[in-house]
Amino acid sequence: MTEQSTKEQVKLENILLRNSVRIHDKLRVQNMIMSLIDGGREKLQIISDFDRTLTKQHVDGKPTMSSFCIFSHCSQVPSVYKEQDEVLRQRYRPIEMDPNMSREEKAKQMVNWYQEAEKLLYGFEFQTKELEDVVRDGGTELREGTNIMLQSLQAAQVPVLVFSAGLGDSVSAVLRYYSVLLPNVHIISNYLRFNGLKVNGLQGDIIHSFNKNEHALEKSGYFQVLASRSNVLLLGDELGDAAMADGVQNAGTVLKIGFLYDRVEERLEEFLKHFDIVLIDDQTMDVVNGILDLVL
Ligand SMILES: [Mg+2]
Repeated sequence: MTEQSTKEQVKLENILLRNSVRIHDKLRVQNMIMSLIDGGREKLQIISDFDRTLTKQHVDGKPTMSSFCIFSHCSQVPSVYKEQDEVLRQRYRPIEMDPNMSREEKAKQMVNWYQEAEKLLYGFEFQTKELEDVVRDGGTELREGTNIMLQSLQAAQVPVLVFSAGLGDSVSAVLRYYSVLLPNVHIISNYLRFNGLKVNGLQGDIIHSFNKNEHALEKSGYFQVLASRSNVLLLGDELGDAAMADGVQNAGTVLKIGFLYDRVEERLEEFLKHFDIVLIDDQTMDVVNGILDLVL
């Protein structure tokens, strides 16, 4: 082993020793990270969820606003939308989280949810500029170190796909507000469609939490552009996020990092099956940035 790779091993050991880190197979993860290091910046791409992955899961126990939540906090959005949207949330959110329902059945129900929610998105004027005001006033915070991560990826010319089943207009607004809507960042999400100044549903096919995989991406052409970047660092906070890299062609090493905050005991085992590294109530990007330090 060279002196350089011994140093890397020591640094890596230290990263993985953090309190928040849980790993099912440590040797496998170490080998995966060494393979990412070997591939370097040229072979790397990042695929990240947005809500509660790039943003914090909570601040002092209070959940952060999701991208759809930012939208419904806008004063331009009529109260009838907010009420009916909440009714749908109460009905479908338990289904989304139900550990006993099959993925296929959930996916069907998610399509129903988004289709019904989309019907509410009609006929009122909306200027997307207000989204940034809500971010500023409501304090949707990026995870500590998200800024550094995105800036160093931009400096290294490593592409970042933000893949979100949330509202793309809010995703853009948050990243813009924190000055990290950088040229290497590409967002695939649900965007509002407009007819003049009025909201007119959503653009294109719906992305929900159980179709964040190759099918949603086939049409985007994104992965063709990235065909040479076979190594993936994937970040998410829901089990469905673990499938986000399934459309990467000729995938090499795909290292999946999952952030887990609520109902840890109940969900940890399942998270460890889907993610290579699970971070328990870690509201920072320190582990990710530690790995990137070695790779870039
Ligand atoms: Mg999320």
